[in-house]
Amino acid sequence: MDSSSPSASKRYRKEENGSEEEEDGYDVYVPVKERKKQKIKQILKISQEDEESGGLSGQEKEGGPGEEDVQELARKNNISLLDQHTELKKIAEARKESELEKQRREEKRLLEAVAEKRALMGVSELARGVQYEDPVVTAWRPPRRVLAMDSKRHNRVRAKYKILVEGEDVPPPLKSFADMKFPRCILKALQKKGIEKPSPIQMQGIPAALKGRDMIGIAFTGSGKSMVFILPIIMFCIEQEKKMPFMTNEGPYGLIIVPSRELAKQIKDNIEYVCKFIEADDFPELRTCLAIGGEPVATALHIIKQGVHIMVCTPGRLIDMLDKKMVRLDVCRYLVMDEADRMIDMGFEEDVRTIYSYFKAQRQTLLFSATMPKKIQNFARSALVKPVTVNVGRAGAASMCVVQEVEYVKQEAKVTHILTCLDKTPPPVLIFAEKKQDVDLIQEYLLLKGVTAAAIHGGKDQEERSAAVQAFQRGDKDVLVATDVASKGLDFPGIKHVINYDMPDDIENYVHRIGRTGRSGQQGVATTFVNKANDESVLLDLKHLLIEASQKVPPFLTMIGGGEEDLLAALEDVGGEERGCSYCGGLGHRITACPRLEAMQNKQAAGIGRKDYLAANAADY
Ligand code: AMP
Repeated sequence: MDSSSPSASKRYRKEENGSEEEEDGYDVYVPVKERKKQKIKQILKISQEDEESGGLSGQEKEGGPGEEDVQELARKNNISLLDQHTELKKIAEARKESELEKQRREEKRLLEAVAEKRALMGVSELARGVQYEDPVVTAWRPPRRVLAMDSKRHNRVRAKYKILVEGEDVPPPLKSFADMKFPRCILKALQKKGIEKPSPIQMQGIPAALKGRDMIGIAFTGSGKSMVFILPIIMFCIEQEKKMPFMTNEGPYGLIIVPSRELAKQIKDNIEYVCKFIEADDFPELRTCLAIGGEPVATALHIIKQGVHIMVCTPGRLIDMLDKKMVRLDVCRYLVMDEADRMIDMGFEEDVRTIYSYFKAQRQTLLFSATMPKKIQNFARSALVKPVTVNVGRAGAASMCVVQEVEYVKQEAKVTHILTCLDKTPPPVLIFAEKKQDVDLIQEYLLLKGVTAAAIHGGKDQEERSAAVQAFQRGDKDVLVATDVASKGLDFPGIKHVINYDMPDDIENYVHRIGRTGRSGQQGVATTFVNKANDESVLLDLKHLLIEASQKVPPFLTMIGGGEEDLLAALEDVGGEERGCSYCGGLGHRITACPRLEAMQNKQAAGIGRKDYLAANAADY
């Protein structure tokens, strides 16, 4: 050893000193307070070891780490109550944390088990191993003036309108339709509809779509999300048609898939409304066709023959037409799935996968929904290229413009109670019921009482359904009674009141239903009948939704819940994690107690085929 090195000699001296101390039996002075602390720690350690080795009974464990023993020992050692309390509290907290960690681990495991492992891609793409890395490129750019502004301005605008964005290189939000560079005729069409300024989802969503970006749009119903995908597709189609007119059997260029026929019709009407204005301004004619069950295929074929720009469809009918080679997706470059979560929930997942296999090139994909539980978000991401996520309000949150009232009504008193509820607001009123028999019963009762009421459900044919919707839209009927078909994205202007004759089985449906009122910034009322026939889990979700939307919580809802709530609150505290269930989005429970997940797993376990499952789901519509 080099003794000239100072560090080496120092280290040598220290070791020597240490051994001297031991030999001398010299004890370093430790203050009394510190000694007491060490003692408590020692005692607690012993008691914990006892507990782990099964020395304490289950009952004792619940009361804390052998509290009585600890106190007894501490008394003997003359340790103050305050010191005992501090140490016991520390141990209890550590234990609570580990409880939460356990819960989190379990949740992660469950979520991984249900997460979609297969990517949402076409079979041929999968086979060829095609992976698209970059978004579609378009010629659109935001105005130079806005591009020159710094990102702080964009963030300020997003914060002001409560727009949350995720994704790489997100285009700036634009506060006027003129900035989005729409031609004057489109601005005129919007103005005629009373649409002067973009809504928050439009401010951020339209620039993203025009830029060619894939997108997940999450916004509450009535927020104007349809225009986010309708306006860009019209612009793209004009561009294409100008470059090279669509020929016989060519198209569609844009494909819009939705879960219900009514919603498809409504979207087609909106597209045609805007198209009327652009044609009047010497822009080329754009053709839109509807491919939904219940409508003659010949009508769609007639338009496809001329060359179709946009196709709005439900999955079943589209697959049928693709199968029979009536239509092809060779030139399709723009795909929209509205109410995407619902579509996948309803079991259309495999159909969507089949539709994907017909694409021949990269397309821009936009997914929209009012609710977007994590399971679906994961699934959706696999289909998108560097997506921009635009979220206006919490996914699954109810619109703040709806006053939500929940009333306890006995089963036998429900029909008659509707009459009392109708007094709350002027018409038009929407009444929802789960079963089609109930829809018929309510309609009959109302007609008997002199209320003009129309009804729609899956038991009626398409003609009857359309006639009922139109009569209600024209104002010929004051009330529309419906099963959930009518709740899926349908836009009935000016609904004053939504009555839920029964509480839907899952909270998402509730959000969709009450979203029929309070649209476009107007105030609405939603009344929901509940009673003891309802599942406690959905009532707990409802209670949390009411609290979140600052609504009155009736006494019978206040009483339900308890221990679980504490856990929820605790999870909110710890690191601000996602609240509620990551599978279905309900706020009243975690994924570990999700009734929908359980139902889904039971169905899978029972080996029920997808077709049976669909049939069961469709039975009530
Ligand atoms: P949606 O959420 O797309 O179903 O739209 C709901 C309703 O809001 C429709 O009647 C639209 O005409 C209307 N709407 C869409 N955008 C706006 C806007 N920027 N300002 C006011 N109303 C709008």
